[in-house]
Amino acid sequence: MPKVWVLGAGQLGAMLQQAAYPLALKVVPLEPEQETLPDIASEDIVTVEREQWPDTPLTQHLAKQPGFINADIFGRIADRLYQKTMLDELGINTAPWQQVTADSSAEALHNVLGEDVLLKRRTGGYDGKGQFWLYQDQGDEIPSDWLDAAIAEKKIPFKEELSLVAARDANGQKVFYPLTLNLHSNGILMASISPLERVKHLQGQAETMLSTIMDATNYIGVMAMECFRVGDELIVNELAPRVHNSGHWTQAGACVSQFEMHLRAVSDLPIKSPEVRGHSVMINVIGVERDIHWLSIPSTQCYWYGKDVRPGRKLGHININHPQRHAVQTALSKLKPYLPENYLAVFDWVQDELAKS
Ligand code: ATP
Ligand code: MG
Repeated sequence: MPKVWVLGAGQLGAMLQQAAYPLALKVVPLEPEQETLPDIASEDIVTVEREQWPDTPLTQHLAKQPGFINADIFGRIADRLYQKTMLDELGINTAPWQQVTADSSAEALHNVLGEDVLLKRRTGGYDGKGQFWLYQDQGDEIPSDWLDAAIAEKKIPFKEELSLVAARDANGQKVFYPLTLNLHSNGILMASISPLERVKHLQGQAETMLSTIMDATNYIGVMAMECFRVGDELIVNELAPRVHNSGHWTQAGACVSQFEMHLRAVSDLPIKSPEVRGHSVMINVIGVERDIHWLSIPSTQCYWYGKDVRPGRKLGHININHPQRHAVQTALSKLKPYLPENYLAVFDWVQDELAKS
């Protein structure tokens, strides 16, 4: 079996490593900054767990490998200017946008995009970092270091946020997980629910959009598409050419998790349509110390990433899965006392959605 080298050694790399075991694949996450260069065989695979990376001896070494899957795609998707241009060229619905150039003015952006305009840095943003709102009624100006370094988007009055996680293999075969409903707070994912009966009718629309993108880029592996829902129309927010936080529930809720699916696709093993089991909820652990009580809650899987605790940092996640919805609801009410007060709104949202479904 070839080795699978992963550019990036965060939690996604670790979860790819965990998923590799039943496939007898050896997955080796690599820190972009590490000094020792691995000895990569010509039949080995190189994949990524992050969209952009610094120019280091290691990343230069990886870029030269013949087995670097999708190598030409990451640069285009990691730059929002290219990503949005690509979506427009493919005729995929996305939030109306403008490039922020050296000559851009807030006034000109408001004229085209409306009163509330969201600046997003072209590269490097994640978890809501790299965003800046321009409110016309407050007379906001574009900060000088955002000129020539951002795009501007129209504020989308979305009803909710949904994402689709899919995988494509080297023959162009594609498989899809059911749409996932996501709750973000301050730009960071707090919770996901899947599957949901009430959004089933949007699955075909989402699959067509993501298929078009993956086929056009000849993409291999797992890709996630984050969408806004306005009425029954999906609008692409952004693409993630990798395993994605909104797909973590598949560890508990699908016969093949997104991590295993990605490894199968990049190493030319069969992919298959993932059978989904029961009802799944994923709660992200953001800036909160681990509490061992979580481990006693029924129907849960707890992942703790072993990172230093800092406010706003993703430190772990809790998957809740059960064939019966009421058992998921019970597990949530048992978990609720063991998370801080700012999670009350998250639990309310999840319980509300489950009750509606
Ligand atoms: P990620 O961690 O997923 O990479 P990010 O920081 O790169 O996130 P986005 O996904 O573009 O940034 O935006 C984060 C969140 O901000 C979205 O999930 C959504 O809640 C909100 N948002 C983004 N774009 C818009 C928009 N055009 N109108 C309204 N809200 C938006
Ligand atoms: Mg996002």
